Amino acid sequence: MNLELSEEQTAVRGLAREFTEREVVPYAAEWDRSESVDRAIVKKLGALGFLGLTVPEEYGGSGGDHLAYVLVTEELGRGDSAVRGIVSVSLGLVAKTVAAWGTEDQKRAWLPRLCSGDALGCFGLTEPGTGSDAGSLTTRAVREGDAYVLDGSKMFITNGTWADVVLLFARTGGEPGHRGISAFLVPTDTPGLTRREIHGKLGLRGQATAELVLDGVRVPASAMLGPEGKGFSVAMSALAKGRMSVAAGCVGIAQAALDAAVSYAAQREQFGRPIAHHQLVQELIADISVDVDAARLLTWRVADLIDSGQPFATESSTAKLFASEAAVRAASNALQVHGGYGYIDEYPVGKLLRDARVMTLYEGTSQIQKLLIGRARTGVSAF
Ligand code: FAD
Repeated sequence: MNLELSEEQTAVRGLAREFTEREVVPYAAEWDRSESVDRAIVKKLGALGFLGLTVPEEYGGSGGDHLAYVLVTEELGRGDSAVRGIVSVSLGLVAKTVAAWGTEDQKRAWLPRLCSGDALGCFGLTEPGTGSDAGSLTTRAVREGDAYVLDGSKMFITNGTWADVVLLFARTGGEPGHRGISAFLVPTDTPGLTRREIHGKLGLRGQATAELVLDGVRVPASAMLGPEGKGFSVAMSALAKGRMSVAAGCVGIAQAALDAAVSYAAQREQFGRPIAHHQLVQELIADISVDVDAARLLTWRVADLIDSGQPFATESSTAKLFASEAAVRAASNALQVHGGYGYIDEYPVGKLLRDARVMTLYEGTSQIQKLLIGRARTGVSAF
């Protein structure tokens, strides 16, 4: 793996860093308190090309490589995971999947709008009764002439109330398990689709997370993404890359935790000197630093594998598992460095810990990542 960043990668990281400092960091605490990121951020992200990274330029994307995408994701994640998640879902799970699986018409219809921020995407896999066992989902799509009629519900959908299109997974066949699932691109203004925002989240409070209910939602047959019955493969291919994006967001959280801990330790004095002089405080900071480096290297490796056309799914699970657990540890250690001040929202570390906690849950819990890695190493499926 070549660890030297190219000129383009360095430039895009600089752009993302400057944007995060100016447009995200000053507002993140307020967005968290008010439970809403300022929606104007979507168009700004689009204008800079961040919603179209890795999407080919002919479809309105900015055509960067996956390491550039990881670098931008790290920076946004350092500023506010709620903002990072908007990009990870709309670009990482939806636009990139349309680019990979879509027909020419689907790409032309959705990609330019998704890349510019004129439209936002969400990813509808989880249901109230099926999370880790996504292959047993029960939302149905029944063929009627040249249309499908969808009925069911989806739970915990990031960008749910903001999105213009949902990449939705539903059962088209009678086969049990993941066979018989198909993917659809459903405009969210289609009659019969209602959305309810979920409030009271522990973290990512600025992000619009929603429950979607589908009651006789009719879409043309041309809304199907990928072949009929291949929807589970569509979902898993999206998540394999999506996990790299979550891992990159976690690197950002851990880096923010390190920056906050170092800065606080330099200015807070106890026992007659800055607490940075105490060995056990240095131990906390060293542990955070090691977590940042290890998580970053694992995440960059995934990007490097994708960019060089090699298999990457197990490495993506490895990066997501490690980086998400590392982000929780790093934020908790940074809070410890802050003492009681870490426990009030005048300082950012409490929010980092709350935001980090969901990373071990979504896009496959830590247990599910271990089963994926275990299956790859042993050849035995323990699902
Ligand atoms: P369950 O699957 O019920 O798991 C409960 C516990 O059982 C976990 O600890 C799990 O690890 C464990 N477990 C389950 N099966 C096994 C097993 N075989 N072996 C060992 N342990 C097991 N979903 C979407 O589709 N789109 C989104 O945009 C999206 N965004 C989200 C945003 C937020 C803020 C949250 C909280 C969730 C989001 N999700 C989204 C859903 C998320 O992916 C699921 O919550 C996650 O997959 C876990 O499913 P579950 O909550 O039903 O937990």
